[in-house]
Amino acid sequence: MQKVYFKTFGCRTNQFDTQVMISKLKEYELSDDELHSDYIVVNSCTVTNGADSSVRNYISSMKRKNPDAKIILAGCGSHSKGESLFNDKKVFGVMGHSEKEKINSILKNDKPFYQIGDLKHIDSTIVEEFVGKSRAFIKIQEGCNFACSYCIIPQVRGLARSHKEETILNQITKLASNGFGEFILTGTNVGSYGRDHNTSMAKLLKKISQIRGVRRIRIGSIEPIQIDDEFMELLNEPWMAKQLHIALQHTSDKMLEIMNRRNNYKDDLELFNKISSKGYALGTDFIVGHPGEDEKEWKIAMDRVRELPLTHIHAFSYSKRDNTASISMKPEIRGNIAKERHHELTNLIKAKNYAFRRTHSDNLEVLLETGKNGVYQGFDQYFNRVTVHSDEDLSANWVYLNSVEVSDAGNKAEI
Ligand code: SF4
Repeated sequence: MQKVYFKTFGCRTNQFDTQVMISKLKEYELSDDELHSDYIVVNSCTVTNGADSSVRNYISSMKRKNPDAKIILAGCGSHSKGESLFNDKKVFGVMGHSEKEKINSILKNDKPFYQIGDLKHIDSTIVEEFVGKSRAFIKIQEGCNFACSYCIIPQVRGLARSHKEETILNQITKLASNGFGEFILTGTNVGSYGRDHNTSMAKLLKKISQIRGVRRIRIGSIEPIQIDDEFMELLNEPWMAKQLHIALQHTSDKMLEIMNRRNNYKDDLELFNKISSKGYALGTDFIVGHPGEDEKEWKIAMDRVRELPLTHIHAFSYSKRDNTASISMKPEIRGNIAKERHHELTNLIKAKNYAFRRTHSDNLEVLLETGKNGVYQGFDQYFNRVTVHSDEDLSANWVYLNSVEVSDAGNKAEI
């Protein structure tokens, strides 16, 4: 049997997509050795110019190290760089996102191919990814209808489209009956789920919560404007994880405008305060160093971050991406300044998180992952990591902790 090696670049969505391709391999063997494989499928990322270079470098190095292998470009890079790499004969074939499920027949091509497909397709396979034996990520939608200035995703993943509700519910029912208790809903723009099917995230959440065995539901990320009244009403439900990740990207209104975002600070603050008053921990994404972020805007942004009830952050330093509006924007922010700002922001949120944990150290419900030598790790309902020491085997168990020891480094308990 001929061997196929998959090299995955980029985000969790790409990792999911590799799983879709692997699940469809019928007449080929999955290989873990790129140097002795007949095919190398490069599931590429194109989110920044740096990501493009990493993919290109990998392809060149494989052409040198394993010259007999057929290299096939898949993933987001096939939609941005596929044509040029194919024309320059750097890859044997190019396959677009919609072609993943056909991989078995695609590999049979004995002549070079460029099969880019379309950006409207949604896979029939819903992918799950498991963390330990009891948490599962479920991809519920694909694509994005926003047009943030710095982002190429809508161009390479297409507009938002949702998986069918019935398929999602069946999948979760199966997993819940196999012992999975926590489900994390993910996608490119998760909060847009349902708009194309005349339903909503809130309706889906209610239905998932009714599945026997489902104990906690998390949403990977949601945009402020996607939080409607129906969603707000669910915040008191016991099965909702008590942490929401709401993508703000910035807190200066000038920057939000430059970034072509749909949120503004006044509404964001009101929303965050409302959700926080219901006992929620709140996380966000934040891009530092985007063109235009001068000292004045940065100061405004940081004062506002201080004001917001934030407990978690994913901070990214802006990185250039061709074919986006941001690429030609001025003034650019020097890398060392962006790095300092990144540091300042993450340190502030670390301190805020510590303060939050000190006041939320009782009655914690923790789902533990697989442990080692009596040490287990898991997340509580507020998405704070807890380390549990125990002589019992607690892998994949839910534990209820009356109280935990809180320190700068994290939360700890003994059972
Ligand atoms: S919401 Fe903005 S940043 Fe996120 S995928 Fe869509 S365009 Fe990109």
